[in-house]
Amino acid sequence: QLSPRLNAVLQFIPKSKCLADIGSDHAHLPLRAVQDKIAETAIAGEVRPGPYYQALNNVKTSRMQEYIDVRMGDGLDVIREPGQADAIVIAGMGGELIRDILERGKSKLSTNTVLILQPNIREAYVRKWLNDNGWDIIDECIVEEFPHFYEIIQARQVAERKELTDMELQMGPILSKKGEPAFIKKWKRREKKLFDILDALNHAEETDSVRRKKEDSENYLQLIKSC
Ligand code: SAM
Repeated sequence: QLSPRLNAVLQFIPKSKCLADIGSDHAHLPLRAVQDKIAETAIAGEVRPGPYYQALNNVKTSRMQEYIDVRMGDGLDVIREPGQADAIVIAGMGGELIRDILERGKSKLSTNTVLILQPNIREAYVRKWLNDNGWDIIDECIVEEFPHFYEIIQARQVAERKELTDMELQMGPILSKKGEPAFIKKWKRREKKLFDILDALNHAEETDSVRRKKEDSENYLQLIKSC
């Protein structure tokens, strides 16, 4: 049984010949994707030996070795040639790490690749990389697993680049249009936190650092209001 977060990631995977799940941990996602016939085959990539052996074992126990190749390696290194994977999932990591994996593995991506990215935090780093590197965000969703909100981003390469605004980078160009209840809840909670921070800063001694933090919080609040 997948968690609501991983289940939402699964829903974003298009029908594919070869799915690469980078940072697959126990290979739960590729197992489900192949069992549900979303992907014909899959590569489960892992950089750490513990999860790698666990993934190998899970694939073997499920008798799926013919369809799922568990590979140990860093990021997209486990994809042998560009375009080998037509869907690539990178989920459950911080936004900077996902960005770094994409940047280092750029050569393994091709025009037929669909990326499904689920940063746990700092989603804006992922959107910025996509926007700077010719990828269009084609869908987004948000899932609440109390107390966290998880955003899932689906992207494809595009010929024409449209620059995302700061608000779109932070909140998501599609999420901010959809205005789903979980999205509203996430940003209302963030807004309240920022008001509390500002309140504390207004009672603190006025130093350069306090002034900077106040400015940052006010800018962030402005951004939320502009949505
Ligand atoms: N993707 C699964 C999910 O969403 O539930 C597992 C998330 S788990 C928190 C992150 C996994 O990514 C860990 O198993 C970790 O070993 C792996 N990982 C971290 N950096 C990696 C990298 N550069 N290449 C491959 N795997 C990586």
